Amino acid sequence: MISFALWCNFGQLLARAALSLAVVAISTSAVAPEAAWAAKAAKKTKDTGEVVEHLHVGQKVANYIRSFGVPDVLVLAIISALPVIELRGAVPVGIWMGLPLTVVLPACVLGNMAPILPLLLLLRNEKLKKLMGPILKRAEKKSASLGVGSIDKQWASLAAFVGIPLPGTGAWTGAMGAFLLDMPTTVALSSIFTGVVAAGGIMSAITLAGKKGGIAGLAILALLTAKELLSGGKKKEQNFLEADPYWDQSNVPVNVYKNKEPFTGKVVSTKRIVGPKATGETCHIIIDHQGKFPYWEGQSWGVIPPGVREKDGKPHSVRLYSIASSRYGDDMTGNTGSLCVRRATYWCPELKADDPAKKGICSNFLCDTQPGDEVNMTGPAGKVMLLPEEDPKTDYIMVATGTGIAPYRGFIRRLFVENTPAAKAYKGQAWLFLGVANSDALLYDDEFQDVKAKNPQQFRLDYALSREQNNKKGGKMYIQDKVEEYADEVFQKLDNGAHIYFCGLKGMMPGIQDMLKSVCDGKGINFDEWLKGLKAKKQWHVEVSYFVMS
Ligand code: NAP
Repeated sequence: MISFALWCNFGQLLARAALSLAVVAISTSAVAPEAAWAAKAAKKTKDTGEVVEHLHVGQKVANYIRSFGVPDVLVLAIISALPVIELRGAVPVGIWMGLPLTVVLPACVLGNMAPILPLLLLLRNEKLKKLMGPILKRAEKKSASLGVGSIDKQWASLAAFVGIPLPGTGAWTGAMGAFLLDMPTTVALSSIFTGVVAAGGIMSAITLAGKKGGIAGLAILALLTAKELLSGGKKKEQNFLEADPYWDQSNVPVNVYKNKEPFTGKVVSTKRIVGPKATGETCHIIIDHQGKFPYWEGQSWGVIPPGVREKDGKPHSVRLYSIASSRYGDDMTGNTGSLCVRRATYWCPELKADDPAKKGICSNFLCDTQPGDEVNMTGPAGKVMLLPEEDPKTDYIMVATGTGIAPYRGFIRRLFVENTPAAKAYKGQAWLFLGVANSDALLYDDEFQDVKAKNPQQFRLDYALSREQNNKKGGKMYIQDKVEEYADEVFQKLDNGAHIYFCGLKGMMPGIQDMLKSVCDGKGINFDEWLKGLKAKKQWHVEVSYFVMS
C-alpha cells in the first residue's frame, strides 16, 4: 500500500514538472518575436564591445568571471548558483550576453539548483545551522507564509515562493524555508525545481517582453499555484492506514514492540517550538519508523534512553510519550511519528541553578537528538485516548496542560487538516483548552489558529496562561478556571454525548474535579453519579503524567 502511495507521488511529481515546463513553453512562445530582437541587440552589444553603463550586480559578477576566460554558459551557471543573484539575476545577463534562450534557461536552472541539495543537507549540521542563525531567522520570516497543512499545499506554496521573483524569495531562501518546515528532501527538491523553472519562464518573459510578458508569466504561475493550493490534498484521499470501516477499533495495534525487543527508529528532526520567554524548553521530535510501527491517534510510544542507570548499572527503564502526530505522520507518508517533549530540568534551591546531575535522562536525550540518531522505542501503548469515530457528529472537549497537548495535535490534524474518510465525515465540534505558563510557552499555536480560521464553526480554542492571566479570584489562571468560564456549555455538550479528554500534569486532576463538583453543586446535580455516568458511557478519558522527572 505504501509503495503504491509513493508511486502515486512520483507520478504527481512528473505531472508537476510537466506543468512547470509548460509555463516556460507558454511564456517563451508568447514573447518569441521580441526574443529574437533582444538577442540581436545583445549580440550587437557583445560584438561591438559597446560600453554598457549601469551594469547590475549580475552583469558585474559575470564580467569578472568572464575575465578569467570562462565560457559564457559556465559563467551563467555559476552566477545562477550564487545567492542574491540566482536565476532571476542570471537570465537577463544571459540574454544580454546574446545567448539563445534555449541555452540560457537550462544553464540558469541547473546553476540555480546546483547548491540546493548540498544546502538542504548541510543545514542539518548543528554547527552550520548556528553559523547561519541570522540568515535562517530572516528566511523563517520570509517563508512563514509557506504555512502548515498537507504536504501538497506546502509543495505548491514553496514552488510559488521560489517561482515569483520578489525580493527575499528564491531558491536559497526557499531551501531554508523547506528545512525549517521539515519538508522531506525529495519533496523540497521537486518543489524548488518547479519554482526555479517557473521563475526562469517569468524572468525570460520580463526580460524579453517587458511588463506584458512578466504579467503573462506571473498570471500562469498564479493560476497553477491556486489550482494546486485549492485542490492539493483534497483531490488525493489519504486512506492507506484506515481500518474498514475507518472507525473500527478492533485491530488497534498495542504493544507490538516490547522492552526486550524494542524498535529502533531514526530521528528526522528535533526542533524547539517555544519562544525565548517560555518557562522551559519544549521540542517537537519527528521519528522515522519506515512504516513498521503503526499507531493510532491518542496512543503513546515508549522510549528507552541509551546508557545505564547510575545507581545499579542496569539499562534505563522505558518512558512513555503521547504521540503528537496523526497515524500518517506530519509528512502524511505513514512512515513517521512525532513527539512533543519538554526538557526536564531540576532547579536546585541551594545552588539556585539547574542541577545537571538531576536532569531528566530521557527528555534530555530526546531534546538533544540530531537527525539520524537512533531511538529505541516500545509500544504503541494505550487505548484510553482514542477517538470514537463511529458517530461523526460527536463533540470533543480536549483539556491539556503543557506537553499534554500531544494527543490533541494528532486529533486536530485527523479531524481538520487531513483528507481521510474520518476528516471528511466529521460533523461535530472539537474544543481545545490548553494551559501553559505564558504566550511564549504556547504549543503549535500557529497550526491551531490556522485550523480555527478555516473551521470557525467546528473548532474552538481557549488558552489559560497561568503566569499572564488571573482567574476570577485573582489567582493564577489554571486550565480548570478556563473550563469553568464555559461550564454551562461544557455540561450541555457532555449531556448530549460529547467526549472529554484530559492530558498533561497529574496535578491538574484534583483541581478539575473540584471545579466540576462545584459546578454540579450549583446545578443541583450529584457529582459522583454524574461522573459515574460519563465513565460508564465511555465519555471520560484521562491520561495524566506517567512519570514526573524523566
Ligand atoms: P508545565 O509547563 O509545567 O505546566 C503547564 C501549565 O499547567 C502551566 O501553566 C502550569 O502553571 C499549569 N499547572 C501547574 N500545576 C497545575 C495544577 N495543579 N492545575 C492546573 N494547572 C497547573 O507542563 P509540562 O512541563 O509541559 O508538563 C506536562 C506534564 O504532562 C508532564 O509531567 C508530562 O509528563 C505530562 N504528560 C503526560 C502525558 C500522558 O500522560 N499521556 C502526555 C504528555 C505529557 P504554573 O507553572 O504557572 O504553575
